[in-house]
Amino acid sequence: MKNTFTHTTPTAEGFFGEYGGSFIPPQLKQVMDEITAAYDEITQDQSFLDELASLYRHYVGRPSPVFHAKRLSEKYGAEIYLKREDLNHTGAHKINHCLGEALLAKRMGKTKLIAETGAGQHGVALATAAALLGMECEIHMGEVDIAKEHPNVVRMKILGATVVPATHGLKTLKEAVDSAFEAYLADPVNQFYAIGSVVGPHPFPRMVRDFQSVVGNEAREQIQEMTGKLPDHVVACVGGGSNAMGLFSAFLDDEGVALHGVEPAGRDLDQVGEHAATLTKGAPGVMHGFKSYMLQSADGEPQEVYSVASGLDYPSVGPQHSYLKDLGRAEYHTVNDQEAIDAFFELSRVEGIIPAIESSHAVAHAIKLAQQKPGQAILLNLSGRGDKDIDFVVDKYGAGYGIG
Ligand SMILES: *Cc1c(COP(=O)(O)O)cnc(C)c1O
Repeated sequence: MKNTFTHTTPTAEGFFGEYGGSFIPPQLKQVMDEITAAYDEITQDQSFLDELASLYRHYVGRPSPVFHAKRLSEKYGAEIYLKREDLNHTGAHKINHCLGEALLAKRMGKTKLIAETGAGQHGVALATAAALLGMECEIHMGEVDIAKEHPNVVRMKILGATVVPATHGLKTLKEAVDSAFEAYLADPVNQFYAIGSVVGPHPFPRMVRDFQSVVGNEAREQIQEMTGKLPDHVVACVGGGSNAMGLFSAFLDDEGVALHGVEPAGRDLDQVGEHAATLTKGAPGVMHGFKSYMLQSADGEPQEVYSVASGLDYPSVGPQHSYLKDLGRAEYHTVNDQEAIDAFFELSRVEGIIPAIESSHAVAHAIKLAQQKPGQAILLNLSGRGDKDIDFVVDKYGAGYGIG
């Protein structure tokens, strides 16, 4: 594989326009500088790129196909294509950046991967990469989430990871971040903090995006092969923004391709704590070591966020998305819980593909778009499969769809 990490580069300090950067305690500055230097080095190192490409192919199952969803297209009037990240090993796009980060950590001589997880998706993908590369893995998770996300907790343990409960405060994601960070600071020499999306201090937004750019690079080639042209629209859901950035990165210079990010409107877009639509409802600020749009209370604390898709409920967003929004290069839309659940059943029943609830937000937007733009080509990133969601969806919503 040639070096394909060639997209819009942030400044040396990690800024995309005014967003990104590195707002961290002084004792972390040196560690982050080392990670940046190591990352710069491996992007020029053919043996690293070859090893990652080989894992993508033989372990993850890449390239993932692009599928022309003909029945869905016929029903809604546009040509809808799905980038099938749901078919990856472990069932979502997250394995793409977890392998990249784990491989980098190993090359830097680190022995242990550390991270927080909310619903457990990032934890499972990272524990998988750690097992594959023979590294230790410690995942911090709120006690409340541990009880809620039992299957993922079991998966992580089977994979050999240690799951550390965060027992203070609300015992959810924010506390897991605190707990993981504290554990990381105790030994940043031997440990590597593997961030789960295009967020955090420099160089993580660029690095995670680069690892995810394989999605866009493949899809761009595949759809041209299938249709002889570029799509009119690309669509992806946005939590932290990694699957969207991975897809968008290949189309940034194609002015004719409209980029659509889809945020969760949850139960109520007009009420604090009832959604996680950061770019739609937030304002620029600094949190978790970087500047971006975020949902903040008046005293600068992260607002409570909510979405039916636990992978989307983060109160900030990757800085490059904030930049693309201000530039007007990408548009950000919202889809609420009910629309996402409708799309979950629609894709299942019309195409035989059960999507993750996160990805269902992108499906819902693509369906709306198809009705507005008849005949146009829409490429949507199906970021993950819905196996993890079926019990929850049937318990809570099944009756409305003739189940249970
Ligand atoms: C975690 C997750 C997301 C959200 O993360 P991004 O960084 O915004 O991509 C989306 N889809 C699935 C299936 C996920 O597991």
